[in-house]
Amino acid sequence: MNYKDTSSDSITFLGVAGARFMVTRQLAASGGLWLNICDTQILVDPGPGSIVQSTKRNLVAENLSAIILSHRHLDHSADVNIMVEAMTNGGFNRHGRFYAPADAIGEEPVIYSYLRNYIEGITILEEGKSYIVGNISFSTPVRHIHPVETYGMIFKSSEYTFAYIADTRYFERLCDSYRSDLLIINMVLTEPRPPIDHLSIPDVVNIVKEIKPRIAILSHFGMHIWQEKPWLIAEDISQKTGTDVIAARDGLKFNLTQLNDS
Ligand SMILES: [Zn+2]
Repeated sequence: MNYKDTSSDSITFLGVAGARFMVTRQLAASGGLWLNICDTQILVDPGPGSIVQSTKRNLVAENLSAIILSHRHLDHSADVNIMVEAMTNGGFNRHGRFYAPADAIGEEPVIYSYLRNYIEGITILEEGKSYIVGNISFSTPVRHIHPVETYGMIFKSSEYTFAYIADTRYFERLCDSYRSDLLIINMVLTEPRPPIDHLSIPDVVNIVKEIKPRIAILSHFGMHIWQEKPWLIAEDISQKTGTDVIAARDGLKFNLTQLNDS
C-alpha cells in the first residue's frame, strides 16, 4: 500500500501522571504516548497501566512497529514487557523493535530475556543518532540531565516535525536540540527544585519562548502541578509566551492536522 492517509495522524496521551507520587497513587494514568503517523504506530514510554489504557482506547498493540523508551525509570518503562507480549501476540507474530538507552538493557534490563526473541531486535539509543521506523524517522539529539541515561526525540514524517522533551533538568542545549512545530514537554515541577532533575513551569516558559513552536502540549505532571490544575498553568504559559499551550489529559488524542490550523 503506497497511499498514505495522513489526515488521521495523531498522538494519544495514555496518561499524564509524572514522577513517583502521581504514578503510585494513579491520580492520573501513566501509559505513555501512542503515535499513529503515516500508517506507522509507535508506543513511547509505556509506564504503569499502558496495557490497560491502550486496550481501553481500542488501540491495537499488534499494529505497533516499535516501542521506544526515553529512559529506564519505572514511570516510563513498567509496561515494556506486557506491551512486547501484546505487540507480538504472545510471540506468535514476531515483529517490531525495541529502542532504549544502553543502561535500560545493561546489567538490569527492563525487558525479560525470553521476550527478546519475540521482537526483531533491540536498538540502543545514542546521542545525535537517527532511526527509521516504518514511514517515520526519529532522532535523539542530546543526552538529557537526569539520574539515568535519558533521551528525548524529534519525530519526522513527510508532513510534520514534532519533539518530545522527556525528563530532564533544564540546560542550555535543550532549545537548540528540539526546534519543531509541535513540542510535547514533560513538566513535573511548579518551581525549579535542585537537585531534582526535572523541568518546572519557568523552564517551560523559557523553552516555549525560545523555540516558538506552533503548539506546545504539557504532560507528565507532578503533584504540585496537579494541585494547581495543569489547564490553568497552560493558559498562563500561553499568555506569557504568545504560543498555543495545551495541558494534556488522560486519553487526549491530538490530531496533527491541528498544526495546520494554528
Ligand atoms: Zn525519570
